Amino acid sequence: MKIGLIDVDGHHFPNLALMRLAAWHKQQGDTVEWWSGFTHYDRVYLSKVFTFTPDFSTVIDADEVITGGTGYQDYRDLPLEVEAAAPDYSIYPQYKRAVGFLTRGCVRQCPWCIVPRKEGQIRPAATWEQIKRPDSREIIFLDNNVLALEHGLEQIDRMGRETVWVDFNQGLDARLVSAQSAAMLARLHWIRFVRLSCDTSDMLPVVEQAAAYLQEAGVKIWRLWAYVLVQDVPDAHQRVLALERMGITPFAQPYRDFCGTEPSSEQKAFARWVNTRQVFKSCTWEDYNDSRRERNGR
Ligand code: SF4
Repeated sequence: MKIGLIDVDGHHFPNLALMRLAAWHKQQGDTVEWWSGFTHYDRVYLSKVFTFTPDFSTVIDADEVITGGTGYQDYRDLPLEVEAAAPDYSIYPQYKRAVGFLTRGCVRQCPWCIVPRKEGQIRPAATWEQIKRPDSREIIFLDNNVLALEHGLEQIDRMGRETVWVDFNQGLDARLVSAQSAAMLARLHWIRFVRLSCDTSDMLPVVEQAAAYLQEAGVKIWRLWAYVLVQDVPDAHQRVLALERMGITPFAQPYRDFCGTEPSSEQKAFARWVNTRQVFKSCTWEDYNDSRRERNGR
């Protein structure tokens, strides 16, 4: 079979589903390549992770077209045999790190979050050795709540004795950072940031306590970084300022509902202000917002 792949979100970050599909089809003796508009395919896969990515609108010449991923509001797993295939990183030659999940799912039910609906209860997914690439010592973990499962803590503990560099890029649950887990986290080699989440104002004292445990265990304050969900802008503003006072770098994420509805222009402007560090450091949100309104004639 001749298989075409389309990464609808672009090629900035490797798409695990497409890498597994590429590996599995190659094992079956199929030809796999990025889709080309000049070729007829037996089957084309389109994968879309983000709801806000515009859909692929070009006509596809194929006997069969299969779409999948959260961006299509499709929460099904890959077939078991495909899920078991090791990702084929050769389709993203520019990307040098391993990517994967130690755990899937989450123990919580935050109302704004798709994870409980999409992945269900937390469970082990892989060991760190299964995710590591033989040609790289860096691993990006996509876990949603790795500290909530003993299996995740075991992997962290074992990685602390290895020369691998890591990033948990979906953020760690600050409620589960204790003196013990902080000590394990401090033994890891971090690619850059130790990411936490601060999605409501109730989380501020929890994040502050987690930051204290991490610093006591030896993590430098400049490594601490936190996602800030932006629903109500004044509330998010207070959280951002409080995090900054703690020495934690905030990163604003405007809320999108499960259909991917566009955030308001104020939410987007607020995120631009927070996430452009030079601007954030040099002017207040009030000044930034006023000049934005003036530019827009409001
Ligand atoms: S803890 Fe994180 S992953 Fe779990 S439901 Fe809440 S936001 Fe989602």
